[in-house]
Amino acid sequence: MAERKLSIAVAGAGLMGRLLAWRLSKVGHQITLFDSGSLEKPAGACQTAAGMISPLSELFHCPLPIYQLGMQSLQHWPHWVRQLEELSGESVDYRQKGSILIAHPQDRSELLQFQQELNAKLGPDNRDQLQWLDNSSLHNLEPELDRFDQGLFLASEADIDNRKLLSALHKALSQSNVQLRENTPVDCGPERIKTDSGDESFDLVIDTRGLGARDQIKGLRGVRGEVVVVETPEVKLNRPVRLLHPRYQLYAVPRANNQTVIGATEIESEDMSPISLRSTMELSSALYSIHPAFAEARVIETRVNCRPATMDNLPVLESEPGLIRINGLFRHGYLLAPALVLRAETEISRLTQATEQVT
Ligand SMILES: Cc1cc2nc3c(=O)[nH]c(=O)nc-3n(C[C@H](O)[C@H](O)[C@H](O)COP(=O)(O)OP(=O)(O)OC[C@H]3O[C@@H](n4cnc5c(N)ncnc54)[C@H](O)[C@@H]3O)c2cc1C
Repeated sequence: MAERKLSIAVAGAGLMGRLLAWRLSKVGHQITLFDSGSLEKPAGACQTAAGMISPLSELFHCPLPIYQLGMQSLQHWPHWVRQLEELSGESVDYRQKGSILIAHPQDRSELLQFQQELNAKLGPDNRDQLQWLDNSSLHNLEPELDRFDQGLFLASEADIDNRKLLSALHKALSQSNVQLRENTPVDCGPERIKTDSGDESFDLVIDTRGLGARDQIKGLRGVRGEVVVVETPEVKLNRPVRLLHPRYQLYAVPRANNQTVIGATEIESEDMSPISLRSTMELSSALYSIHPAFAEARVIETRVNCRPATMDNLPVLESEPGLIRINGLFRHGYLLAPALVLRAETEISRLTQATEQVT
């Protein structure tokens, strides 16, 4: 039996809202996408992120479901990206060249601890996902890391230029029959969207407002994250590199035009004010310790935002008739979004079938 096509309001055009609106419109649902701000310049956490899709690196701090959902996302990103690039005519710089973890010689135990912890969580069948790099294999992959003589390689990990992705999604949505309603703050209820001009009815509302849904999701909080973007032609990395350090963690994600995104702090605060001097110094000096030529890099941007997180830092997908809420993507939005889109599609089928049985 053909599935019923619904009129669906998606509230919040951050990463989750855009991706969901695009995928659901592709299968024939009639979508209206609302955002309180501009679609060209998103204000949510999605705009600040580094765009790493790193289920293995995250497994060190997170429970297994984050890794499992992340691996599922990794199966879908490549062909979703291909479709999106074709549709929008814009490249999103998706790259699946793995990522590398390094530590200074005096911190070698950090690498060993990471390896042990991951092997224990992955179990014997999946241990080949983690590869120890000796001096020559490290320098074959990343010749610029000549201060380091060992590392770990996580070959399946990927990354994406978040801002290019958001722009391509915006373009694809503009060319589709999705109704785009920017600068329209909304409240969400079952089958109902409330705007300043009144209530509007839909078959289904999907709330993807990130921190904008704070009063609707128990325990939702913001976790401040700061990143610095630098530019230098002197250091060429081929993939994301993470520096393990007893005091701070740093990642450096190479981007087009000789740019590198370095991050990120994780501070229990909803303060959205500009980056602190301390964070700037810690991130910059950790970067400089990876390669001295970063000393002459130009700081071209600093970014601050708050990640929407639940009390256990796991994502939520809650549903009731006429309303689905997806939130709490924390530091894993790009890692988890495709897997959560698929879960939402399953939930929509379930809700639709349940309604058909009642009527
Ligand atoms: C510094 C930093 C680095 C990160 N790095 C990574 C990374 O490398 N990899 C990774 O996977 N994730 C990363 N993340 C996490 C990722 O950015 C988030 O998980 C993701 O953006 C969450 O997506 P979202 O769509 O749920 O929320 P958001 O991206 O915050 O979007 C919410 C949207 O809802 C809109 N909105 C809010 N209130 C309303 C309202 N009342 N009405 C209408 N619209 C509303 C907002 O304008 C916004 O557009 C990082 C985050 C930060 C801050």
